[in-house]
Amino acid sequence: MPDLISFDIAIIGGGMVGASLALLLARQNPAWQIALLDAQPFSDSDTQHFQPSFDSRSTAIAYGSVEILQDLGVWQSLSQHATAISQVHVSDAGHFMGGLIDANTYGLNAVGYVIPNAWIGRVLLGELHNYTNIRLFAPVQVQSIKPRQLGALLLVKSGEDIVELQTKLAVVADGGDSPLRRALGIDSQIKDYGQTAIITNVSYSEPHKGVAYERFTAQGPLALLPLGEKASAKESALVLTLPRDTAHEIAELNDAEFLHHLQARFGNRLGRFLKVGKRHVYDLKLVTATEQIRSHIVLVGNAAHFLHPVAGQGFNLSLRDCQCLVDALMTGEASGKSLGELSVLQDYLDRQALDQQITIEFSDKLVRLFSSASLPLIALRHLGFVGLDLMPSVKTRFAAQTMGTAGRAYISP
Ligand SMILES: Cc1cc2nc3c(=O)[nH]c(=O)nc-3n(C[C@H](O)[C@H](O)[C@H](O)COP(=O)(O)OP(=O)(O)OC[C@H]3O[C@@H](n4cnc5c(N)ncnc54)[C@H](O)[C@@H]3O)c2cc1C
Repeated sequence: MPDLISFDIAIIGGGMVGASLALLLARQNPAWQIALLDAQPFSDSDTQHFQPSFDSRSTAIAYGSVEILQDLGVWQSLSQHATAISQVHVSDAGHFMGGLIDANTYGLNAVGYVIPNAWIGRVLLGELHNYTNIRLFAPVQVQSIKPRQLGALLLVKSGEDIVELQTKLAVVADGGDSPLRRALGIDSQIKDYGQTAIITNVSYSEPHKGVAYERFTAQGPLALLPLGEKASAKESALVLTLPRDTAHEIAELNDAEFLHHLQARFGNRLGRFLKVGKRHVYDLKLVTATEQIRSHIVLVGNAAHFLHPVAGQGFNLSLRDCQCLVDALMTGEASGKSLGELSVLQDYLDRQALDQQITIEFSDKLVRLFSSASLPLIALRHLGFVGLDLMPSVKTRFAAQTMGTAGRAYISP
């Protein structure tokens, strides 16, 4: 790296959100010179994915996000390994009440798609190389962001060297832990759910037929997202939530014991659970940054808001944030404002605040309501389930959030 380099926009963190934002920016305005920096090497090969975003998880991509990815020109590649979710089945353990979101009701083929993160990584990182206005720096460690009058100065550790990078807009996309958020003195509100998610893939005896399952139990919610190109496939990505004190013990059970535990939690809708893959654990919290913008600095992705994964909202919300940020930057530029000027970033936040608020509240309430063994909350959740089936407005709200359209155009059932 040269001693001092200069870019219009520098994105710190090339995970799912940082990489998507780089592509959205580069496509929208080829004149913007964009730097994408990550602590881990970038790789778009089949076998090597170094960014933590692109691990062995799978992500539920909502219908609304598909539109953004189509505009970006990556949907065709992503769809090669996307499983369509034709229905979402919601149920409450120990009770017969349940609800069904059916894509047909909304005139759609799918309410969303499930894609392995490793494939998302391969497509996004492959696409980054197609833009001459994106420069990748990895592995490098951004050590600090110092505000300057019309931009920011990044101190970047590259090997043994420290290099300065000047930018008009610094985008912090360094993940939920976000050391840079802390270094900037930005506080975060943390609500610890006291839960841990076990993530793995499971196979079973009956075909999933494109159905995603969300099941709520007193120990916490679980989700099964269909995998495999055909509806006759018999494999799903599992997000199994447990109280933190028991999760590690369950994660370390042998395969037969783990499958037995899962069968007891989920029931027999997919027949018998037969196989389980490697298990990974994630502690679950709701973390929201108390500030997302400063002059020439903006936080996105997990650095801005880290959500419980069970409702599959985190990446979908961040993608909508990124789209909105790009729109605001374009509007600002058209009216002669400097890139990253506070009024431009405030415009972005004003436009996106409601979507963020609705989505964060939705996943938080869902988790709290459906993780509780307290009697009033059990009563409420039964009302909620009756509502899901009988009250169109409740069902429409749930469906819109699942499809990623709640903060956008209304899709009528
Ligand atoms: C178990 C689980 C399941 C999920 N399922 C879904 C789902 O179905 N649907 C959905 O919408 N969302 C889902 N999510 C949420 C989704 O995974 C996140 O929204 C997404 O991963 C956030 O990505 P990110 O790029 O913000 O952060 P990260 O993936 O954490 O990336 C941050 C990047 O920054 C880099 N970095 C950090 N510090 C520095 C530094 N100082 N200098 C340079 N680089 C740095 C890191 O190397 C990393 O590559 C799920 C989350 C979990 C945990």
